[in-house]
Amino acid sequence: MKFEDLNLLKNIQHALADQGYEEPTPIQQQAIPVILNDKDLVGCAQTGTGKTAAFAIPILNQLHRIVGSAKKVKRIRTLVITPTRELALQIGESFDTYGKYTNVRQLTIFGGVNQVTQTDQLKKGVDVLIATPGRLLDLHKQGFINLDYLHHLVLDEADQMLDMGFINDVKKIIKLTPDNRQTLLFSATMPIAIRELADTFLTEPEYISV
Ligand code: AMP
Repeated sequence: MKFEDLNLLKNIQHALADQGYEEPTPIQQQAIPVILNDKDLVGCAQTGTGKTAAFAIPILNQLHRIVGSAKKVKRIRTLVITPTRELALQIGESFDTYGKYTNVRQLTIFGGVNQVTQTDQLKKGVDVLIATPGRLLDLHKQGFINLDYLHHLVLDEADQMLDMGFINDVKKIIKLTPDNRQTLLFSATMPIAIRELADTFLTEPEYISV
């Protein structure tokens, strides 16, 4: 299979070609059509499988249609929750790389640093917000984050968030998002607490395991 077979917009395909990506990895082959079809997804996949691109590419494809014009007002349409600052930064870079020929703008926020740069960027407006759980809740509580326009919620490395004690924060965050969102959950392992999370908060998800 090639990326051309996945019905992606030309400006996304060009960005992938620039990266030298020749064909989609197994998780990408399976996840991209499901996400483009607006379905919820549970993906059981380790880091290194191309998991980030498996959600970033189809999300960018959909966002480009929504925020195609540079004049369109910026609202948070996609929220990615991930356990660590390092992962958040990597995901942000992926959105920048695959979305370089779109007007989609991403912001990465995490704890342990002064919030002012982050809140200044939030005030300017972003389409994709990538966040660690604590900082997301903190800035939401302070009124800097409006999730009413959200289309996609991605829970990345869900088992790691469980291990790090973030599960209640994750549940709180999910409850701040609209019911009609599309929810994508990725986890390297599927402990019972993660299955329960998926059963509670995802709607008839497709299950993919690589
Ligand atoms: P991830 O599993 O998301 O951490 O991605 C692992 C690495 O694979 C990253 O460095 C990506 O740039 C790279 N990658 C993702 N998709 C592809 C692809 N289709 N072809 C070649 N490399 C890829």
